[in-house]
Amino acid sequence: MRRFIFFLCCVLPLASNPVSEEIWAPNLAFYDYLAANKIDASILTDLDDETYGALKMILAKTAYYEHRDEESGKLLHALIPIGDERQISLYYDGTNYRVEIIPVRYFFVTETLNARLKNSMQYDLAQITGNGKLSTELAAIFEARVDFRRDLQKGDRVGAIYDRKIRLGRTWGAVIVKSAFIESRRKRIYAFYRAEDESYYDETGKTLANMFLKYPTRFIKITSGYMPNGRVHPILGVTRPHLGVDFAAPLGTPVVSVADGVVRFRGCQKECATGYGKLVIIEHKNGWESRYAHLNGYANAVAPGGRVKQGQTIGFVGSTGIATGTHLHFEVRKGDQTTNPLALRNVRQNGLKGGELERFIAEAKALQEALDYLADIEEDGVTRITSAPSSDRAATN
Ligand SMILES: [Zn+2]
Repeated sequence: MRRFIFFLCCVLPLASNPVSEEIWAPNLAFYDYLAANKIDASILTDLDDETYGALKMILAKTAYYEHRDEESGKLLHALIPIGDERQISLYYDGTNYRVEIIPVRYFFVTETLNARLKNSMQYDLAQITGNGKLSTELAAIFEARVDFRRDLQKGDRVGAIYDRKIRLGRTWGAVIVKSAFIESRRKRIYAFYRAEDESYYDETGKTLANMFLKYPTRFIKITSGYMPNGRVHPILGVTRPHLGVDFAAPLGTPVVSVADGVVRFRGCQKECATGYGKLVIIEHKNGWESRYAHLNGYANAVAPGGRVKQGQTIGFVGSTGIATGTHLHFEVRKGDQTTNPLALRNVRQNGLKGGELERFIAEAKALQEALDYLADIEEDGVTRITSAPSSDRAATN
């Protein structure tokens, strides 16, 4: 019984108790997990359909929790999440093992962060909050306005009001930033979350997510999407990843840069009859780059090292290189990693208008005052404003 109470209690720090966090190995079946722990698979024979189905839904690399007898190493309890809200509970009741599906119990908290930067935002926030989730989220929100490598200096400030879930002492699922600011060169740049469109706006109602245009041409017939794990190549007949998005468009259709940047490459990587064909690579803020391939030709103003503006024509659709037909192959990378260009925070180009804008500005003003208060009065660190267990939240939703 003590054990059971222990598990329901979610905010104990893991370091002081015998619960360990483990990672579910790829291709590990629940049966194999039982066998590895010398548990007879007959415990599964009387399970209902829901429980039985859940056993097949464990994702590879899921973080799960184990509680073992400290001396014998015998498994006493395992909690294995299925999505954000449910988990498999496998426990030893003193005589037998049992399996059931129970809700993930977590605390839902609202916190404020107030930090003066000493090293980098990523490093400092990980130190303060114990993980990288908040800084990753803030970087995504502000990257259209802030160049994190160049603009931020020692002594600059970051403030945020955000929600997170805590499970067994750790952040569970995504952190949702409600409002935040980054102070760079004594100027505060604000972001306010608008739940209606899940977007961030500044205090004047302008969107912050305007770094990338959604499409690099005005023809938006997508003929092949981003498939990093592979597709059968229509010409070569082999399975290979498709690391960008293909847009079908007539020969000579203008292709525009999706963001401000500097031309890093213009030409053919080997011969123009192979690979990307005629290619333009543009480098943007914060390590992003975009690639435009199979071009028929380049715009005159586009030369390596030259600056281009968002929306500026850089070339024209063609079929150079290995291409099934006239189309644009469009790719976005950050560092060495490709990413799905259609999944970037880039959708809304226009700010809010009319009554929508008025309402938003009034709400943002109150939040801005709260953030300023935080920065001017509060000490550095994290402060918890509200806290409620998941069961309460479910009841009120
Ligand atoms: Zn392609």
